[in-house]
Amino acid sequence: MRHHPRSPSPHTHRAPGKLPRIDELFDNLPAGVIIHATDGRILSANHLACRLLGHSHTELVGAESNGTVWQFVHEDGSDMRPSDYPVNRVLRSGENLPDQVVGVPGLPDGRIRWLLCNAYPEFDEHEDMLRVIVCFTDCTALKYAEQSMQKAEERLRLALRGSTDAHWDWDLATGNLYYSERWWDMLGYAPGELPADAGLWTRLAHPDDQARLASLLPGLLDSHRQGYGVEFRLRHKDGHYVPVLSRGYVLRDADGNAVRIAGTNTDLSERKKAERRIYELAYFDHLTGLPNRRLLVEQLEQALARCARGGRFGALLLIGLDNFKLLNDTLGHDSGDLLLRQAAERLRGLAQGGNLLSRFGGDEFVLVLDDLGQSIGAARAGAADSARAVQKLLAEPCRLPAGSGAITPSIGIAVFGGGVDRVDTVLKQADLAMHRAKADGRNTLRFFGPDMQAAAERQAALHEALREALTQRHFVLYCQPQFGRDGRPCGAEVLVRWLHPQRGVVGPNEFIAAAEASGLIVPLGRYVLEESCRALARWAADPQLGKLKLAVNVSVHQLREADFPQTVAEVLAASGASPAKLCLELTESVFADDTEALIERMHQLRAQGVQLALDDFGTGYSSLAYLRRFPLAALKVDRSFTHDLLLTPHEAPLVDAIVAMARKLKLQVIAEGVEHETQRDYLLRCGCDALQGYLLGMPVPIEEFERIHGGVLTPKNNDAGSF
Ligand code: C2E
Ligand code: CA
Ligand code: CA
Repeated sequence: MRHHPRSPSPHTHRAPGKLPRIDELFDNLPAGVIIHATDGRILSANHLACRLLGHSHTELVGAESNGTVWQFVHEDGSDMRPSDYPVNRVLRSGENLPDQVVGVPGLPDGRIRWLLCNAYPEFDEHEDMLRVIVCFTDCTALKYAEQSMQKAEERLRLALRGSTDAHWDWDLATGNLYYSERWWDMLGYAPGELPADAGLWTRLAHPDDQARLASLLPGLLDSHRQGYGVEFRLRHKDGHYVPVLSRGYVLRDADGNAVRIAGTNTDLSERKKAERRIYELAYFDHLTGLPNRRLLVEQLEQALARCARGGRFGALLLIGLDNFKLLNDTLGHDSGDLLLRQAAERLRGLAQGGNLLSRFGGDEFVLVLDDLGQSIGAARAGAADSARAVQKLLAEPCRLPAGSGAITPSIGIAVFGGGVDRVDTVLKQADLAMHRAKADGRNTLRFFGPDMQAAAERQAALHEALREALTQRHFVLYCQPQFGRDGRPCGAEVLVRWLHPQRGVVGPNEFIAAAEASGLIVPLGRYVLEESCRALARWAADPQLGKLKLAVNVSVHQLREADFPQTVAEVLAASGASPAKLCLELTESVFADDTEALIERMHQLRAQGVQLALDDFGTGYSSLAYLRRFPLAALKVDRSFTHDLLLTPHEAPLVDAIVAMARKLKLQVIAEGVEHETQRDYLLRCGCDALQGYLLGMPVPIEEFERIHGGVLTPKNNDAGSF
């Protein structure tokens, strides 16, 4: 910086002790000062004025302030007309002109210098204007800082407009509140449509959030927190509430006072929707919209805890739809789904108060009755009422595309409370009770009782014993002969027995069902099949036994295994038995299953040369339509029909009909349970192809059977049954 030139005035020295010389004071002022005459000419300019304007004292004094000496610009950079120069405005108006910013371009450093001017007139005692004084300071740095701040702010706003977050800014000093366009948009308003004061949020907030929101601000102002993040709901213009995550930052001065709060509001609608969806997927059944098993278990846990605390009772109803699987298979899965939805819709009304209705699994619903009073008796009565309400609600036939169908429920009830209950125990008890209801003929309700627990424990013990027996190979094969119309043996049925270490020989009626329920029937069935095929292979060398077919009972559980045909092929190959000599007996329960897949498996077996017979024909769910599609070789007339012949030895219309139908379908007919000659005679007369029964031959251990009916190893025994 150049040292300012001294004014050429003669008063450069002053006497000590006197007041400071006015012109010297004038020159040393930290502001530029220019004194104009009333015609606009410059009378005087101090040192800083010369420097700020970039002119020497001589250049300035005497110059007209009309633009010949300099050219000012407006704040926006446009040229200023001389009439707008501060001095000229004061000359015209005769009034003070404070705080006018003018720019001086063309300075040596190339930048515009910005001056903050104060101009005022001086009058004499007659109110005639004497002079106009213009004072100014350099505000360039401030001006550029402001400009760059404006630019930064603009950039920020542009960036924020692109973001989904709604920006806001609150200057606590000025009280200015700025809400971005996005902020307004998020709530459906045009910018500024509502008064943008500090209370706006609380006015728009959900009633439940208002108190929290109102306490947020004082907390921020008082404490030394730097920021916050809260979730609340703001009312949209159309009335719904927008979930918002608000994050803010507090700017504090050196003393820690909040001077500014700025932040963003994020619209959480989408996130909330996704969260809700995830919650629904996890906790609700997609078909019926009811709570699923997972939610049930969680809520049941709470209900049990509440009952235990309050000394109260509740009940859990397990509602199984009777024969649903069959309906589903015969009417199609769409109808099955529709039926489940309609059932859910009807039962939904029962889930009132603390009660919970849930879809528990395929065709099972659970109703938890939360509070049934303080005694077991009251709880049982209340639960029975609800169970009857369930029966009533489901009694009306459902509308289905194929017509209407009624569905009945079997309901198992477990009462809880009055002690410590566990979720799994209560569910297990209701399940036992429901199975009892089904076993007792369906469409009924049963309370869980200790007897069921005992039965369940017996069942579990039986499963365990069977498992053990299987590893110990405690199962043996018995064989019962079958005879052709000529009276000669034509085959045998394999009947399994359990050689129990304590109980001796145990018949299949005592353990097949348990083996099926535990899944052990699959390995057990395979064992029987292997032993049977080994026997067939042995028999092939024997002139008598070699002629016989061997019938092996196959459970539907075995046929449900996708690789069952493969298993049979492997067992046959491993043993070397001829497939043509193997006959598999299936029961009618295959009709009530995923029939398409089962039929496909039956064809695969048939293709191997294995024969298939339908056992116990006439007792189960017979569908003639299916019968035609099954690749069967024979029907076995159930024992009960044979038995009926004892009562009416001369007439058996059912047996006649079965034989006639079998003829049409080109199936062999085997009659079982023949105990009396009258039965045998009638059955032969009406055209049965083969007979089996105690009259003709008892089931005996397979070695004994081989001894009796074999031709090589042992001579034909006189005990051998024949007509
Ligand atoms: P099923 O297949 O109907 O077998 C015939 C049953 O009738 C046998 O009972 C047989 O002993 C009995 N029986 C034979 N002749 C007469 C008669 O003249 N009068 C009477 N009242 N009954 C007669 P068992 O051996 O107790 O078998 C019962 C059931 O156990 C079988 O009925 C069959 O369903 C099942 N079963 C037997 N062995 C097996 C097997 O290895 N696998 C599978 N899955 N089930 C088997
Ligand atoms: Ca059988
Ligand atoms: Ca049978």
